[in-house]
Amino acid sequence: MRYGFLIDQNRCIGCHACTVACKEEHAIPLGVNRTWVKYVEKGRYPDTRRHFAVLRCNHCDDAPCIEICPTVALFRRPDGIVDFDGERCIGCKSCMQACPYDALYIDPERNTAAKCNFDASRIEMGYKPACEAVCPTQAILSGDLDDPASAISRRIATEKVAVRKPEKGTRPKLYYVGVDGDLLEPSRMAPQEGYLWGEKNPGEDLYALRAAGAGAAPVETSREVYDVPHATPWGAKISAYLWSKSVAAGVLLVSALLANAGLQPDAPVLALVSPGIALVFLALTLGLLIADLKKPARFFYILTRPNRSSWLVLGGYVLAAYAAAAVVWAAYGFRRGFAPPAVFWPAAVLAVAAACYSAFLFAQARGRDFWQSPLKFWHLLAQALVAGSAALILAGASQLVVPLPLMGGAAFHWLGNALVVSLLAALAIAFVDLLMDHGGEGTRRAADLLVKGALWKPFWLVVVAAGGLLPIALTLWPTASPLPNIVAAVLALVGVWSYEHLWIKAGQAMPLS
Ligand code: SF4
Repeated sequence: MRYGFLIDQNRCIGCHACTVACKEEHAIPLGVNRTWVKYVEKGRYPDTRRHFAVLRCNHCDDAPCIEICPTVALFRRPDGIVDFDGERCIGCKSCMQACPYDALYIDPERNTAAKCNFDASRIEMGYKPACEAVCPTQAILSGDLDDPASAISRRIATEKVAVRKPEKGTRPKLYYVGVDGDLLEPSRMAPQEGYLWGEKNPGEDLYALRAAGAGAAPVETSREVYDVPHATPWGAKISAYLWSKSVAAGVLLVSALLANAGLQPDAPVLALVSPGIALVFLALTLGLLIADLKKPARFFYILTRPNRSSWLVLGGYVLAAYAAAAVVWAAYGFRRGFAPPAVFWPAAVLAVAAACYSAFLFAQARGRDFWQSPLKFWHLLAQALVAGSAALILAGASQLVVPLPLMGGAAFHWLGNALVVSLLAALAIAFVDLLMDHGGEGTRRAADLLVKGALWKPFWLVVVAAGGLLPIALTLWPTASPLPNIVAAVLALVGVWSYEHLWIKAGQAMPLS
């Protein structure tokens, strides 16, 4: 048994009865939808035509939302329906990033994710889904795809059908008949300033980003004239989480490299201050993650109801192991002064894991083309080295105001070199990443947002100039004063945060539906 939908857009009259029936069936609040009808108009007057597409969850056979959900709130039933359990949802919004079809939303009253669940309770009682029952033209058909004799199977076998974004490999179980291709691929649409009966949000929203930088749609005569609002699930807290994790992981990674270079005696800062910084920024990382949840009080579900295929859960294990390594390192600092290789090398390995696991998490966000970068792992590593070097320079320089010997000239010089090398590496990786094509039109257009679109000013002025080139120049400036190194370290940390913020923003600028 594998339930699926077939929607015949040749029959659909765009009346929204399915939307309303679904809202009524599930008491869905204003502003969010489990199913909706999108209108697109094509052609030039008088040769114009309006096309419709009914959009909703595709009940994918290989559902990325199930894979990424950290608490098994999303699951596949034995009958193939992808259902959800709001009682397990922690509101992390990762499913909204994983679904390539914009099918999930956060219920503004319950603060948990929700989506079409095929009206599973009606199905269990032998009824059709409400949308199918109400459709006046019988444009919606549900049934068992595993039964070759079912009406839906026979139509799929004999008619020309299409699915949304087959290249995503999700194996959707929602088939369309007679749908216009532009309705299934939103990036083909020219951005509009408003819809038939309403304005879009002004300001720095998805539309503004698209219109200003990435809106050069290839099909100029195809216009969205009716759609629902689209969410931008992750914002400043997630970019700050990436930044604080870079500092937390980078500080012990760079400390281990310093120790390996035999500079521990010249850098007493490594004994206790380094693991202390790591633990403080790990706590900040955890705090930011919890603060971003719609259900923060359920955070512990990640441990008690874990989905071990989710990198949110695996990342939690990595961070816990890294915290333990930092505590062991600090314990050595308390007792004997310096951590031996048996302590600092395992800590370094765990630091790399802590810095870079997010690359796998963002890769699980299969809805976002821009985040599917094979270079993200290496970029996160380079950024951790930047952040770690900068944090240690600032920690060492604090001896200017506190009467403690924290860092000698040799270690300070080594850290300056490390900062320059890691900044060059981070910049080089970022540029290769932005220029390479790693999957689809959405990737190129998101990269264009940074390089020449709506985000070009913060990218070139803050990330590249102030956060990259200027700290390199300041560090290489031949002077005995530590001030240029201190300013360089602060700027480098600002650059790391800015890039993550822009990367998060650009990745979500492309519409999913
Ligand atoms: Fe539905 Fe999206 Fe999950 Fe596919 S990935 S099952 S469309 S919510």
